[in-house]
Amino acid sequence: MKMKRRDFLKGAAGGLALLTLDGKVVDARMVEALPPDALGILYDSTLCVGCNACMSACKEANNKKPEMHGDQQLWDKPQDLSASTLNIIKRYSSGTGEHKDQEEDGYAFIKRQCLHCVDPSCVTACPVSALAKDKETGIVTYDKDACIGCRYCQVACPYNIPKFEWDDFYPEIVKCQLCSHLIAQGGISACCSVCPTGASLFGPVAKLREETRRRLQMKPGKRYKFPVSSIDSGKWHEFEAPKYERHVYGQDELGGTQVMYMSAVPFEKFGLPSFPKESFVSMASGIQYAIYKGMVYPLVVLAGLIFMAKKNKNSEEAEQSASTHDQGEDA
Ligand code: SF4
Ligand code: SF4
Ligand code: SF4
Repeated sequence: MKMKRRDFLKGAAGGLALLTLDGKVVDARMVEALPPDALGILYDSTLCVGCNACMSACKEANNKKPEMHGDQQLWDKPQDLSASTLNIIKRYSSGTGEHKDQEEDGYAFIKRQCLHCVDPSCVTACPVSALAKDKETGIVTYDKDACIGCRYCQVACPYNIPKFEWDDFYPEIVKCQLCSHLIAQGGISACCSVCPTGASLFGPVAKLREETRRRLQMKPGKRYKFPVSSIDSGKWHEFEAPKYERHVYGQDELGGTQVMYMSAVPFEKFGLPSFPKESFVSMASGIQYAIYKGMVYPLVVLAGLIFMAKKNKNSEEAEQSASTHDQGEDA
């Protein structure tokens, strides 16, 4: 049973809301494993042409407003993830920026959205279960009626994903929910259904992981079939295999994620952080048993705070060594 906003406020009035959650709510925050029927996305940066169709489709599917900046009042031009932008394509560029998928004098694209962590810190940090991981699909969803606006999820998320509607009278937390409303009707994520190249590919995580192993065995320069839209769609394009990085981002990071990345450019060039295999939740839970069970929430938030401090320092250093631009800036 979920704790609703009014129940939490009643508890908070007693002054010990974080420490007096009932056993069932605590159970919902136990360390998670990947559900067998988990759904996700494989984003292959080498197939992405930066067309931004996925960004438009995402806004349309989720009723999000365009973002205008400066004099460019004709086009939706988001700078980053925001309360109106759940999915953004960014561009890495270095030196002359001439060659696609090359680290030196090259460029490459990266898609940013919620990664649907296998063991999500945001879910653990949320004191009222407004964020929850679906037991069947593993999709991390948001319940606006339960949310009390504490924004612990924002601090706890190691990927800086959840955003807050500061401009709204009844603000909500905003993040990708893998288009679960479309999946419930038998569809797939909007970003994947419109992607012309198959760079964003929807499917069961088990099959997507199998696909990553297939791609890592491809011989660079040789032609192969790459599925489009969904791994089970039966549709495909034929491309020359790139020289992939030998690591799939999201395979192991912090317990793994259901949205995974492949690339020919090192992931740190996109500003993606390096993480250990163990999740913040399992780290905090380990300590939790040595202290007391209510401590898991502040610990996850603390882990997020430490990470944010380190990340800010790292991004300053990264900005000095290479330039990463939003795709829109170059349009
Ligand atoms: S990426 Fe952040 S918001 Fe998304 S599931 Fe993981 S912790 Fe939660
Ligand atoms: S799955 Fe849906 S909400 Fe998430 S990035 Fe794709 S289109 Fe946007
Ligand atoms: S629709 Fe596909 S190719 Fe176009 S920007 Fe998005 S991921 Fe890249």
